[in-house]
Amino acid sequence: MSSDDSAVGAVGPIVIVGGGLAAVRTVEELRQAGYDGDLVIVGDEPHLPYDRPPLSKEVVRGENDDTTLRPREFYDEQRVELRLGVAASGLDRARRMVRLADGGEVAYGEVIVATGLAPRRIPGLPELAGVHVLRSVDDSRALRTELREGARALVVGAGFIGCELAASMRALGLDVVLVEPQPAPLASVLGARVGALVGRLHTAEGVDVRAGVGLTALTGDGRVRGAVLSDGTELEVDVVAIGIGSVPVTGWLEDAGVALDNGVLCDEVGRTDDPHVWAVGDVASWRHDSCGHKRVEHWSNAGDQAKILAGALTGTGDPNAPAQVPYFWSDQYGLKVQALGTVSADDDVHVIKDDGRKFVVYYSNGGALTAVVGLGSAGAVMKMRAKIAAGTPIADLLESAPA
Ligand code: FAD
Repeated sequence: MSSDDSAVGAVGPIVIVGGGLAAVRTVEELRQAGYDGDLVIVGDEPHLPYDRPPLSKEVVRGENDDTTLRPREFYDEQRVELRLGVAASGLDRARRMVRLADGGEVAYGEVIVATGLAPRRIPGLPELAGVHVLRSVDDSRALRTELREGARALVVGAGFIGCELAASMRALGLDVVLVEPQPAPLASVLGARVGALVGRLHTAEGVDVRAGVGLTALTGDGRVRGAVLSDGTELEVDVVAIGIGSVPVTGWLEDAGVALDNGVLCDEVGRTDDPHVWAVGDVASWRHDSCGHKRVEHWSNAGDQAKILAGALTGTGDPNAPAQVPYFWSDQYGLKVQALGTVSADDDVHVIKDDGRKFVVYYSNGGALTAVVGLGSAGAVMKMRAKIAAGTPIADLLESAPA
């Protein structure tokens, strides 16, 4: 809280810009922390805030179409004004106003940026029907209409979304080619050795995995018909899904004078260098004691950050609360990839269990356990949370690990 305000909310509502998971979690945590003032969510999508993980799984497979996080009554009960279907276009910090794309303005006492990410595009590709990216429910529905049994699909990028889409497409009976410039799927997140274990699963499930290869061109006349890869291979394709990562949605803040660098730069509780401007979720680059500024693009991070931010904003948080061990999961072929802790490129990798399909891997740095990753091994991963938090010596764990 700043010295010029007697209470948070006294000079205007808390306005959350972005109507996704981080916005909803922030509302929940602010109320939990005792904030009783006005709340506004400004979201550019027309939908009630919804959950994104199912978009590359159940929704794109046509098994579920509604991933709404909270019903409308929740917002009524929590006295949250929803301004949906209108984008924030700027921030006037001197007047404490969020500018809207429709010409309107919303006054704030505190503003929380929660605008998430936008899919990265490949420059120079022609605009062709049949080529998709995936971030929103509308993206997922549009892709779903193209996923017909026997169709030839190209998935570009074997990060989490690309891998999940490849798995969903196989479940629907498509022929799938998965291309990834890195040496293995998920190599940029889990390292090449563990990525290869994930790649093995895709190959076993019938995906044509081509690592070390990128997309250079798409061909077609109005609709995509072919693709050219960086090794010169030409493919006939019916549908293309591009999952090459995402960029933080901060364009609307460019003139606001808020520090931006691959996201909104924040301290360790989500506050920017303007004490009335905060950021949370995928768009937010929080400072961490261990690694400096970092953005985290995972579901549980939105909730973890919302709790810390709400505590700091209301003055009710415990500054000595232990840091959460980061967690994410990914569903592929009915199995869960789970990761607890933080994987770094220079970690040592120890394969603890590998039955040819499921596996458990420990990561260590400087002799201490830093992360555990598993496929189809939930129990073995989730029980390691306290040991990661404690930085347990890896030598002790290797001694007692199953052969
Ligand atoms: P978002 O959920 O992206 O919400 C941001 C919202 O802000 C959007 O509605 C956006 O349209 C809106 N917005 C943007 N600009 C403006 C503007 N100028 N004005 C107003 N509103 C604006 N994580 C996991 O841990 N496991 C998974 O299995 C997993 N699967 C995923 C699958 C997919 C397909 C996707 C896309 C993500 C997945 N994630 C997963 C990541 C997880 O969904 C995100 O970490 C989470 O959604 C982040 O929430 P957020 O609120 O920060 O951003």
